[in-house]
Amino acid sequence: MTITVITGANKGLGFETARRLIEQGHTVYAGARDPERGVRAAKALGARPLLIDVTDEASVAAAAETVRAEAGHVDVLINNAGIAGRAAAAGDQTAADLQHVYDTNVFGVVRTVRAFLPLLEAAVAPSVVNVSSGLGSLAVNADPAAHTDILPAWAPLLAYNSSKAALNMLSLVYAQAYPGITVAAVDPGFTATDLNGHHGTQSVGEGAAAIVAAATARDAVTGTFTGSFGPVPW
Ligand code: NAP
Repeated sequence: MTITVITGANKGLGFETARRLIEQGHTVYAGARDPERGVRAAKALGARPLLIDVTDEASVAAAAETVRAEAGHVDVLINNAGIAGRAAAAGDQTAADLQHVYDTNVFGVVRTVRAFLPLLEAAVAPSVVNVSSGLGSLAVNADPAAHTDILPAWAPLLAYNSSKAALNMLSLVYAQAYPGITVAAVDPGFTATDLNGHHGTQSVGEGAAAIVAAATARDAVTGTFTGSFGPVPW
């Protein structure tokens, strides 16, 4: 039985990823920070509901304890929960704006990985999939016009882009520090969800494809950054 935990699985890319992995036989813990939304989504998916707010240390610890007690290990941890933050010009973004976005997109992943590490280490071939973004690529931000194939809609989002760049670095450091765990950063591509007011050009089905591929890859190399078209430059 493949045990998979997905944060922020009550809607959007997380929900679609859960649906696809359940179809492939995974036992999915569908994470949600709101109990009502979480239970509703889990019921619709045939998943196990998991209350987890990644900004809350106690909530993350309780979620890991629930999975430990019920399943004993985690094969795949998908750090999907993410927020875009306040829309504002770079010069108008405050340190507090960045702290708010980082609390979910960066520190939330640190809290979750730390809490679930013993459960990942209890699995035979564990993996962590960090849902990043092409907007977090330093190469893309250095020259957006050169990378329109990866990112047709680059935007100068100070908090969001830098949070995903930090997430990419977390992915690389975890990959080096834990060679027994396959760590992947994934770019789903510009997908129509609540995160971007449904302006994304892809469907959630198209966006979830890269996440599902990373979550189900056999003999995957650790420390990669990929999208649906292949490797994304760091
Ligand atoms: P979405 O529809 O807004 O879903 C985001 C999910 O994260 C929701 O379930 C949300 O829960 C959850 N979440 C937010 N803060 C949380 C917290 N503190 N604790 C736990 N869960 C929390 O957005 P999405 O587009 O599917 O985004 C999923 C991931 O893909 C994000 O990491 C995003 O950065 C990344 N991504 C998206 C795109 C895109 O174009 N859509 C492109 C590249 C990367 P609530 O319902 O309670 O708010």
